[in-house]
Amino acid sequence: MSGHGAAPYIYLGLRALQHRGQESAGMATWSSHAGLYQHKSMGAVHEIFNRDAVESLRGSVGIGHVRYATTGRSSARNAQPVIIPTIDREIAIGHNGDIVNFMSVKKSMQREGTAFFGSADTEVMGQLISYEYSQTHSMPTAIRRAMGALSGAYAIAMLHGNTLYAFRDPNGIRPLCLGALENGYAVASESVAIELMGGGLIRDIEPGEIVMIEKGQQPRSYKSQNTSSRAHCMFEWVYFSRPDSVLDGKLVYNVRKRIGETLARESPVKADVIVPVPDSGRPQALGFSEESGISYSEGLIKSRFVERTFILPDQKLRRQAVRMKLHPIADVFNGKRVVLLDDSIVRGTTLREIVSMVRSVGAKEVHLRIGCPPIIAPCYFGIDMKDRNDLIAASRKEAEIAQELGADSLKYLSLNGLVKSIGLPENQICMGCITAKYPLNIPQEQQRFQQSLNDF
Ligand code: SF4
Repeated sequence: MSGHGAAPYIYLGLRALQHRGQESAGMATWSSHAGLYQHKSMGAVHEIFNRDAVESLRGSVGIGHVRYATTGRSSARNAQPVIIPTIDREIAIGHNGDIVNFMSVKKSMQREGTAFFGSADTEVMGQLISYEYSQTHSMPTAIRRAMGALSGAYAIAMLHGNTLYAFRDPNGIRPLCLGALENGYAVASESVAIELMGGGLIRDIEPGEIVMIEKGQQPRSYKSQNTSSRAHCMFEWVYFSRPDSVLDGKLVYNVRKRIGETLARESPVKADVIVPVPDSGRPQALGFSEESGISYSEGLIKSRFVERTFILPDQKLRRQAVRMKLHPIADVFNGKRVVLLDDSIVRGTTLREIVSMVRSVGAKEVHLRIGCPPIIAPCYFGIDMKDRNDLIAASRKEAEIAQELGADSLKYLSLNGLVKSIGLPENQICMGCITAKYPLNIPQEQQRFQQSLNDF
């Protein structure tokens, strides 16, 4: 953001975006008098940034980042913003997404003598921009050239002196938007961050667009060379983003509610009560209830202080956390035919625990309705679904999954139903993980099905 005293605003924005990553967080700001300040560490935003830490970050422009690792290990070394030297002053980069060809670019840069200090793709992006800047002495041109060499998903905020750059990959896979604050401008992955900083959304940053914000000036826009086909990640609407965010013109809450209505029409069921799997299943369950006439009830109570299990780094931890996280209200379930509505199934660990919990408090029947088609293939673009073997639907049919999860029935949303609920043309949505057809060529994709992304 740009304005007077950036760090407190960035802190608010990061708190609003905590759901996007809980492993590490960081901030970098720029003061004309004293240069670059930075503070980053492992942990949640409120743990890292106490009052002293926020006050130590001087300057009226800065960026912040929350991370969960998809490419590059989860370590303090890979925490962002990543700081890279250039021919004049450092750049600080915060990146959401995964760059699929970063290893080949990294290897060729290493052959030319560039040294890397971490394993993340973001550093490759930064080093390449720094190199191009040394050749062209124009930062927008350097960014454009780097975008031409790198392929994948990236929504980036970058600080160079007093200037903030924000740019988005040519397919617009990950979200990025521009907003106005009282004394300046802000960019963020989700519009809710801008609202919680006290500002308002201006617009989405276009796929392939580079936005440059200088102090006291209107944002300027540059286009990178190819902005051919859009492929917005469907999973942002299904699960990842907050329901109060607007992504590429579509309010997430409305999309989720339409998903519930569609599911009710596609896969009706005779039941006494519909219960959402909180939090992201709530609007879907509401839509399902309104469409079907089955009464809606909050039967699973979530502890406010346990993090999202999907984001925890290993399966055993995730399983233990489910019982800590959700507790059933026995009265809601006892003797009832229950529909449980969840946003999606990735591994199935959480849902299996929930079904068994609901049965243990007396549910007569448990029917699962899922607000996303089966996830059958890995994501290479920044969502942590990289190992095909982890995906419960990769090798099982609906009936087998129902059995494995202990449910009386299981129905997924159809692909067509998902597209209609999002409200964008099908050819503008990435659905790689549900169709195994990706908007970009993935180097060595067949091997990647069996291996960790860290090997590439
Ligand atoms: S593969 Fe799936 S999760 Fe990954 S970007 Fe595409 S739709 Fe989103």
